[in-house]
Amino acid sequence: MRKKQFKAESKKLLDMMINSIYTHKEIFLRELISNGSDAIDKLYFRSLTDESVGMYKEDFHIFITPDKDARTLTIEDNGCGMTADELESNLGTIAKSGSLDFKKDMEEKSEVEIIGQFGVGFYSAFMVSDKVTVLSRAFGEESANLWTSQGADGYTIEPAEKDTAGTVITLYLKEDTEEEKYSDYLETYKITSLVKKYSDYIRYPIMMDVETTHPVEGKEDEYETVTETRTLNSMVPLWRKNKNEITEEEYESFYKDKFYDYTAPAKVIHSKVEGQATYDALLFIPKKAPYDYYTKEYEKGLQLYSNGVLIMDKCPDLLPDYFSFVKGLVDSSDLTLNISRETLQHDYQLKLIARTIEKKIKSELTNMLKNDRENYEEFYKAFGMQLKYGVYESYGANKETLQDLLLFVSSHEDKLTTLNEYCDRMKEDQENIYYACGETKAKIDMLPQVEAVKDKGFEILYFTDNVDEFAIQMMSEYDQKHFVNVCADNLDLSSDEEKEAVKKENEDSKELLDKMKDALGGSVTSVRFTNTLKNHPACLTSEGMVSTEMEKVLNSMPNSNGEVKAETVLEINANHPVAEKLKTLSDENLTKYAKLLYMQARLIGGLTIEDPAEFSSLISELMV
Ligand code: ADP
Repeated sequence: MRKKQFKAESKKLLDMMINSIYTHKEIFLRELISNGSDAIDKLYFRSLTDESVGMYKEDFHIFITPDKDARTLTIEDNGCGMTADELESNLGTIAKSGSLDFKKDMEEKSEVEIIGQFGVGFYSAFMVSDKVTVLSRAFGEESANLWTSQGADGYTIEPAEKDTAGTVITLYLKEDTEEEKYSDYLETYKITSLVKKYSDYIRYPIMMDVETTHPVEGKEDEYETVTETRTLNSMVPLWRKNKNEITEEEYESFYKDKFYDYTAPAKVIHSKVEGQATYDALLFIPKKAPYDYYTKEYEKGLQLYSNGVLIMDKCPDLLPDYFSFVKGLVDSSDLTLNISRETLQHDYQLKLIARTIEKKIKSELTNMLKNDRENYEEFYKAFGMQLKYGVYESYGANKETLQDLLLFVSSHEDKLTTLNEYCDRMKEDQENIYYACGETKAKIDMLPQVEAVKDKGFEILYFTDNVDEFAIQMMSEYDQKHFVNVCADNLDLSSDEEKEAVKKENEDSKELLDKMKDALGGSVTSVRFTNTLKNHPACLTSEGMVSTEMEKVLNSMPNSNGEVKAETVLEINANHPVAEKLKTLSDENLTKYAKLLYMQARLIGGLTIEDPAEFSSLISELMV
């Protein structure tokens, strides 16, 4: 029989397992039991729509058999099983879901980190075994197959006999060493305690034949040995237990196991609700966004159980889009078992549950923000964008829910701030919440208007995400304060006298300014003097709804035709020497100066200029 090779990464991982110095080798049992339980789940799921699973369902279980003579440990399940192809693809390659960086991580991380973070699934069997066989028959198939491997040199798959669907995994345990007594894994007490420790909440019975010795009744000094089949786990799902019976580690490993994350969650929310809607919910707020989170492929949803029985793997109706990052499950006895996706949408109970869950998530996030800021900020780095989209998408309808969960970088400190904190710091005479947009904080700081506003002692929020300004426009105000872009033309922080002076200056120079506008051939809607600038000679401001930053974003959208145009005004610093100079120029030179000032203003604002060559030659001309 031809021996097949493992895929490269798998082989690496396998090598690691075989030579493992990991001190918690015992986790192999948990991993194999979880796989068995998942396989039963799959068949159970099928039974909801496929009657042929039928009676089989009553007998779902996992069976463990130690054999001291053969030095083998067998883990058997009557789940969905695997075809020959599935054996090949599932056990010949790493199938770690949700870990795109696995390859990279394997190079960078230590064994302990990898095992701790990823869990290692099936391959962990090789931490304790020299040889592993997997006898499997897929549900609905007539034939079975045997997968055999003695480790990194490859594996074989051959046809085999098996009466019923399911999988039998046999571990040929390694020889005992000084550090590790592998034969312990054949002892009843050891297996029992490992199941209790790691797999107690598995929903299906984990069974084992246990031999016990009893005195024979009526006969002194005579004993008999009886074999009885015991169920080792309590089968109470984790979420049905009382909070005070559950350790943090249990929550964590449950989360990592079930939702394929290798980072512990930022927050665990375990709630038991009674009243109009009665349910248990176990929710997790992840710390890191899954690699596909901000793509169309990502599916939101919570697992839905009815009385401990899974009825839907990802029920989208339980989560609003802006909380789509939440993972977890809801178990309610108010729902009927054979409910379909369509009827579920209209289910009154489900809507009630969804509403309470949303409130709960919000209040937990609010708590975290208040009492565990560091943790919240880490969460926000991963999912803040989604909250902002939430404000934007609903045309502001969800702003009440979300506005106090938002954080922005501000000029106050090099830290994130909430809108509420910003408002608390506002100066007495400050009427608006000021913001400025750009790619990075550093680039924003270079904007002439930012300098001017900061100089007046006002705090500025830095909008560096594309969605920021759109979201804020949807909100339109916070705590009755309007959001004002410091680069917008309607921002004027000067005194009435100053305003009057500039107004006059503009009127007096109307001819000059119009000439400059004409020189720029439609690039700007007007040119005028301003006294809000400090050191820079000129800047661009925008009129109307579309800011220059929004122009950039909108035109970079995949289906844009680049036609969105911010209405731009070229503002010239009235206090800058260049302002005086302009008044002395010939028409020809005024055209050149207008162009130069416009191009400078674009560059300072983080925009590109259309004709860098012209810019360069104009500068050179000035230089010589
Ligand atoms: P994971 O369980 O994290 O996907 P594993 O390496 O443990 O990774 O298993 C790889 C795949 O092999 C599983 O996703 C599953 O499809 C299949 N598998 C493992 N054990 C069983 C089993 N007992 N019954 C059916 N399929 C199994």
